[in-house]
Amino acid sequence: TSTLSGKTALVTGSSRGIGRATALGLAREGALAAVHYGRDKQAAQQTVDLIEKDGGRAFAVGAELGTPGAVDQLFHQLEAGLREHTGETVLDILVNNAAATTPAGVAPEEVSAEQIDEIFAVNAKAPFLLVQRALGLIPDGGRFINISSAVTRMAEPSQVVYAMSKGALDQLTLHFARHLAPRHITVNSVLPGLTDNGSAVFQMPGAREQMSQLSAFKRLGEPEEVANVVVFLATDRARWITGASLDATGGSLLG
Ligand code: NDP
Repeated sequence: TSTLSGKTALVTGSSRGIGRATALGLAREGALAAVHYGRDKQAAQQTVDLIEKDGGRAFAVGAELGTPGAVDQLFHQLEAGLREHTGETVLDILVNNAAATTPAGVAPEEVSAEQIDEIFAVNAKAPFLLVQRALGLIPDGGRFINISSAVTRMAEPSQVVYAMSKGALDQLTLHFARHLAPRHITVNSVLPGLTDNGSAVFQMPGAREQMSQLSAFKRLGEPEEVANVVVFLATDRARWITGASLDATGGSLLG
């Protein structure tokens, strides 16, 4: 039997990239996947279609994180979808994957206060509020998985604000791991390295070549290689891991 059959999962930002691969991976293990998107409803529907084609179950929920009322909006749709598919509103797994990034090429000297607010709102505040809200739906033994970044462990000045927000997300992991341990709920971070999410920057020959050198394996990561780590954390086999940061960088931090 599949390792996650009978479970339900919400993956934020699963309209594409690592989030999509994660929703697919969780669904392949039998979980009902709530595929969340910010703006691209069509792409989210494509994720749902891919899951269904694969024999899995999924539904889409939309909410632009960082805007007022987004968390309420998301949970309203989530609870309706869960009720429709399962007859109840239990959420076993929450993957905080959606994130805003510092626009490429912005030097630390040029980052605006508004950009800082936006990045923190999406990458740190929203995950906190989502975890807080999910506590009402998550059973004992549930899973919170936060997608952080290797840039929390490696200096990259052009990404300072983004890295600060991921550092804040890692603190969410640490403190909630302690808080929720009495309920056997685990809380972990996964740190991807450079992962080909299909966006233009990863397709530019020169840049791709250069970015590939960061990994010990001299290539970019694939979304499903990160998703595999997330799926493992979601299973019962990972029950002894909490408050951890799992490296999913292909050895990019080996030095
Ligand atoms: P993508 O840029 O491919 O996708 C981002 C996803 O997040 C989309 O589904 C997007 O939805 C959603 N999203 C973004 N902003 C918002 C918002 N304000 N509200 C709701 N949804 C939003 O991301 P990746 O797959 O590259 O990254 C996934 C995670 O991995 C992120 O947390 C990222 O920081 C992390 N990571 C990625 C690395 C990489 O090299 N790719 C490296 C290290 C970490 P929509 O388009 O519908 O708005």
